[in-house]
Amino acid sequence: MKTPRIEIDLQKIRENTRTLVDLLGCRGITVTGVTKAVCGQPDVAQAMLDGGAVGLADARISNVRRMRDAGITCPISLIRAPMLAEIDDVIRLCDTSYNTELETLVRLSVAAQRLGKEHDVILMVEMGDMREGILPMDVEAIASMVVKMPGIALKGIAANFACLGHDAPTPHAMAVLTRLANEVEGTCGPYISQLSGGSSSGISLALSDVSNGRLNNLRIGEAILLGIDPVTERRIDALHTDAFCLIAEVIETRWKPEKVLAQPLNPIPWALDLSRENSPKLRTVLAVGQQDTTPEGLSFPSQIEFVNATSDHTVVEGNDVRLSVGSEVKMGTNYSALMRAMNAPDVSERLLQMRRHSVPQGHHALRPQLTLVR
Ligand SMILES: *Cc1c(COP(=O)(O)O)cnc(C)c1O
Repeated sequence: MKTPRIEIDLQKIRENTRTLVDLLGCRGITVTGVTKAVCGQPDVAQAMLDGGAVGLADARISNVRRMRDAGITCPISLIRAPMLAEIDDVIRLCDTSYNTELETLVRLSVAAQRLGKEHDVILMVEMGDMREGILPMDVEAIASMVVKMPGIALKGIAANFACLGHDAPTPHAMAVLTRLANEVEGTCGPYISQLSGGSSSGISLALSDVSNGRLNNLRIGEAILLGIDPVTERRIDALHTDAFCLIAEVIETRWKPEKVLAQPLNPIPWALDLSRENSPKLRTVLAVGQQDTTPEGLSFPSQIEFVNATSDHTVVEGNDVRLSVGSEVKMGTNYSALMRAMNAPDVSERLLQMRRHSVPQGHHALRPQLTLVR
């Protein structure tokens, strides 16, 4: 089979989505499945919908187009503010977009009228992540202008946490968003039907006993795909952490000293250096590198350890296991490693379609077993 390849267990993605949809549903919170880490891969997107996600969201219009081309008709939101050159596509392909700039909102309004469509907008509020967002004190003023723009409808307000920074949402932040929603309704009129209070980083607060105000939606990618809370980097109970694995082929395996010195005048330099070396290491080179993934973000089978990687090679070490040339090594991925692999031209995809109910494994699931397949 071709390597490097990413293997995707769709059933685990369905189950992770279902688990979160059920847990958050009890609190009145819906789940929007975020597909950006898999570049809008349509089978993954469909698995999220099958698991009960109310809609999908992606940061890139190209990924949205890929899902639409594959026949996905559910509501899709663009969660990165649109670029001006893609406004028409945003209106055509997305039901909703997240926005922070009046200039962009005006253009959305004009395009929606021209294309004869009604487009929903959500205002993104800056709540401390310091990436995108309208300052809380400006939300009412901008909302009051948006409600006068034909072709677009103000549907909600939202915030983002722990993306650029590392701070998870707080009860205070939810209270502020709730107050903003109430104020916008009071002064501008429209019912703010959606209060989207964050990403996977918001799950633990949403499931805690503290009040979340009017929070009624989370946009979730990482927790569905990898079962991980991005703030703690720990597994979320009852979620699968191994829905994806990256498989690479061994192209060299050899005992190596710490260093081989170049001594051109010595007739047998290798013999000299190797015999002087006390603790040679069994090093293995995998045919995968920075061009295919984020090698530092891979988790290896317990017998081997990551040493370093370059654009096309990843070097691992492990004295207890000798991997023969041509054998395959299966690795877990973090969010960045997954995203890069899903977007890399040389990494192929293999979908595992088995319809079985699988029980999530314990923490050792983060370290997939070594497979030696010829
Ligand atoms: C990426 C992103 C999300 C999803 O984040 P996860 O950590 O994958 O759950 C949600 N909202 C916005 C605006 C994003 O950019």
